[in-house]
Formats: sequence, structure tokens, C-alpha cells
Amino acid sequence: MSLSAGSVPILSIVVPAYNEAENLPVLYERIRALNWAEIGLDFELVVVDDHSTDGTAAVIEGLRARDSRVKTLRFSRNFGSHAACTAGLEAARGAAAVVLAADLQDPPEIIPALAAEWRKGRGIVWAVRGEREGETWQTRATARVFYVLIQYLTRMKMPPNGADFFLLDRAVLEALRLTPERNTSLVAQIQWLGFEQSSLTYTKQARAAGHSKWTLAKRIKLSIDWIVSFSYSPIRIMSAIGLLFAVLGFIYAIFLVVRRFVFVVPVEGWTSLISVLLITSGVQLVMLGVLGEYLWRSFDASRQRPRYIIERRLGL
Ligand code: UDP
Ligand code: MG
Repeated sequence: MSLSAGSVPILSIVVPAYNEAENLPVLYERIRALNWAEIGLDFELVVVDDHSTDGTAAVIEGLRARDSRVKTLRFSRNFGSHAACTAGLEAARGAAAVVLAADLQDPPEIIPALAAEWRKGRGIVWAVRGEREGETWQTRATARVFYVLIQYLTRMKMPPNGADFFLLDRAVLEALRLTPERNTSLVAQIQWLGFEQSSLTYTKQARAAGHSKWTLAKRIKLSIDWIVSFSYSPIRIMSAIGLLFAVLGFIYAIFLVVRRFVFVVPVEGWTSLISVLLITSGVQLVMLGVLGEYLWRSFDASRQRPRYIIERRLGL
């Protein structure tokens, strides 16, 4: 494995890209314009084309023609940004790797600060969003709710605004290969690895061009993935609720028997019966759903399909 060109270590910059033709040339220029001599590293830019349909592939080839430090993988179909990050990190040859988005929301100008933390011996350096520019309050509110929920259920320490811009040391990259999970959260997976972690804060910029590919449905999927991959609490909560209902039912039954035979009040009421029936069957269905979430992920993992399929690789 070649970790350096000559004596200068290489920093891999992994960029997942789905329909980012307009943003990639700007991103490349901004990365190239960094003072690499001062950082004491050279870079390779690994763009993972998540089966874009807008000419992103041609743009990357154009960049490659100018600069052989630009490398690319193209997926055979759209596998999502987490698969793209994973593929890029697995292909990266650098002594460390940075992941950042193609849409310039994560300013590459933070890279020197990340590299400085890495030099201090940190295996993982998170760039944590301070403010979020150009996002509606609805987006911020839902993100907030998901993070609180995830933090409570998985007991993982997460920055409240999340982190999707980070640097990983070579040792962490190798460790990450050992956890080939699917339907999970890459950020949580990295956190779980341990190592010396530190973070610095930056301002997430508004998207330069195009639009976000995150939908509410995708966010919900990620949140459930995250909870199911790193927490058994939902199953425990199911057991607790089941127990509670059983105890309540038992107490109510004793109450009815005593009332019937001691106070001789006749048992009455469809209404109470139906409401109990509706509540218990509703709770049971929810519980089955929770079990299903765990079950299908287990089934999906057992099939051992690859997490992504590479259609073409250039420079890697
Ligand atoms: N992305 C990807 N595949 C997808 C969706 C997004 O590779 O299916 C990339 C996208 O090109 C961008 C990064 O993942 O570089 C973050 O995506 P986006 O900006 O849509 O997410 P947001 O910033 O809204 O969280
Ligand atoms: Mg974005």
C-alpha cells in the first residue's frame, strides 16, 4: 500500500456525489487552492459517483484529465450517500481520510484544522456543525427530535446538530473495514470504534447548487437504522409495556370478581371491553412492528449482498 507520494503523506478526500455536476469543479478548485505545502500533505480526491444522471461522471473525467490526483468510483445504481462514503473510505490510500459533501455545505477550508488535530494524535476528528445556514426551521426541528431520540435510546454521545464531515486516521480506516454492516449509520459506526476522538465546530453553509437529496422518509429510515443497530431498548420497552398491561389486566380482573361476588354488582359493559381490546391489540401490533424492524435487518444481513456495486473505477 502506498501511503505517500515521495515523502509527503497523502490525505484522501472522499466525496459522495449524486448529481453534483455544478458543484464538483468549484469544490475541486477550493481544495486545490488550499496551502498544501503548509499543511504538509498532498491530497487525493476520491469522488464516489452514486450513479448520477446529470453529467457528473463527465465532469469528474474532465477534472481527472487536468489532475491525476482526482480519482473516481461509479456505482452501478444509486446506493445512497452512506454507501458512497463507505466505498470511498475503503478505496482511499491516504495516511488519513476526510469525508465531505460535494455541495460545498462543508467548507474544505476546515481541512487544515482537521489535519492539525490529527497531527496531535487524534484518530477521529469530527467537524461539528455550529449554525446551519439555509435550512428551514422544520428541517432543524425534525433533526433535533431525531437526535434527542437517538441519544436517549442508544446512549451515544452525539453533537446535537449531527456530524457528517470528519477525518479518520489510517488505523481507523482499517478498523472500519472490520464492521461491514448494512442498514446502519456510518457516523454511529465510527463513534462505536473508539480511538481518540475530538471535534471542532464550523458553520454549515447553504447548498451551492442543486437541492438536498434527503427526504423525510430517508431521515426516518436512518433514524430507525441507527436505533436498531445500536440499541435493544425498543425490545426492552416492549417487554416492559407487556408486563404493565398484564399486571393492570390482572388487577382489573380481581376488582371485577370482588365486585361481583362481594358487593353483588353485575358485570356490565361492552364499552369498557371494547376499549381494552382496542388498546391491547393496538399495542401488540406496534410491538410486532418493532420486532419486524429488527427481524428484517437480520434477514437482510444474512443474505450477505454487497453494500454497493462498483461499475467503474478510475485511478484507484
Ligand atoms: N449523495 C449521494 N447519494 C445520494 C444522496 C446524496 O452520494 O443518494 C451525496 C450528495 O451528492 C452530497 C452528500 O451526499 O455530496 C450529501 O447529500 P445532500 O447535500 O443531499 O444532503 P444534506 O446536505 O441535505 O444532508
Ligand atoms: Mg448537503
